[in-house]
Amino acid sequence: MKKVLSVAAVILAVALVAFLAYDGIANKETSTDFFSMNTYVTAKLVGADSDECAEQIRSLTEKLDTEILSRTSPSSYVFKLNSNGGGEVDGKIKEYLTVLLNVSQKSGGAFDFTLGGVSDLWNFGAEPSVPDETALKDALSHSGYQKIQLEETAVIYGDKKAVIDFGAAGKGIALDEIKSLLSGKKIKSAVVSVGGSVLLMGEDEFTVGIRNPSGNSGSYIAKLNIPEFCVSTSGSYEQQFEKDGEVFHHILNPETGYPANNGLLSVTVLSQSGILSDALSTACFVLGQEKGMALAKEFGCHAIFVTENKEIIAEKYAVDIIEITDDSYTLVTR
Ligand code: AMP
Ligand code: MG
Repeated sequence: MKKVLSVAAVILAVALVAFLAYDGIANKETSTDFFSMNTYVTAKLVGADSDECAEQIRSLTEKLDTEILSRTSPSSYVFKLNSNGGGEVDGKIKEYLTVLLNVSQKSGGAFDFTLGGVSDLWNFGAEPSVPDETALKDALSHSGYQKIQLEETAVIYGDKKAVIDFGAAGKGIALDEIKSLLSGKKIKSAVVSVGGSVLLMGEDEFTVGIRNPSGNSGSYIAKLNIPEFCVSTSGSYEQQFEKDGEVFHHILNPETGYPANNGLLSVTVLSQSGILSDALSTACFVLGQEKGMALAKEFGCHAIFVTENKEIIAEKYAVDIIEITDDSYTLVTR
């Protein structure tokens, strides 16, 4: 009898150790951060595959930028399309272009993915300055999403000098690609941010901050308590400079070529799609609060606007998910 009991105790102990080891592996946490797509990327992963996935997120993001989306890297597909004034497209790149064309059309051109020539003149990524008036007019005359035609297997540039730019949507595309990478792996939860776009994956509830437009990158004015989503923010504070007392930022009004100024400081968009959350946050910023909110709704997405008057404007549903943490701001629901 004694022998039987001690065998049972050993079996139990072995099972417990195996369970704890398994639990440890299943909840393994890995973090990584690196610079890509002209911005900081951070990933926090929980799950047995977290180490290998962190590595893969890095190579996927770098490849997506340098081989496909970058407007400035000569090895990228988009760079080649722009240099040749068009070319063959299929698969993923065609899917991305289809979404950007759709957002351009539905926003009435407030979002325009052909503004690359104008953005080049402002040069926000490097040494920004106010462009020469004549050069700006010339670059604007070669932009316009209507000039781009997407055919079965090709993209045709009606104006060979048009410059396609994924600057407003590339970070969201990265989130979509990372999401499909992780969904085939043993990952319980993931929070991945690529600049102002964040992927939330898993069954937990997540808390995401809305950044203080006039504070540093660690200061927030509100919290969103939400489930799995892609969350993108476009803010004038992200890239800006001052000249003769005037502030210029990187989100441009395609009608004028100058920064969009309509009383907004930032727009945050929630969607299950990364490319839509990113493209729409930029589109809503340019469109302004009323038209922007209507556009987000048309795409089945939620938008939250932060105004210069210190209002945080959102749809009624948002009352349940927004917590204001800076009481100089007021929540307004529409
Ligand atoms: P985001 O930070 O996602 O709002 O994207 C801003 C970037 O999008 C800029 O740095 C430009 O590369 C590009 N961009 C600026 N204005 C527009 C616009 N009206 N439509 C589409 N892309 C734009
Ligand atoms: Mg964007």
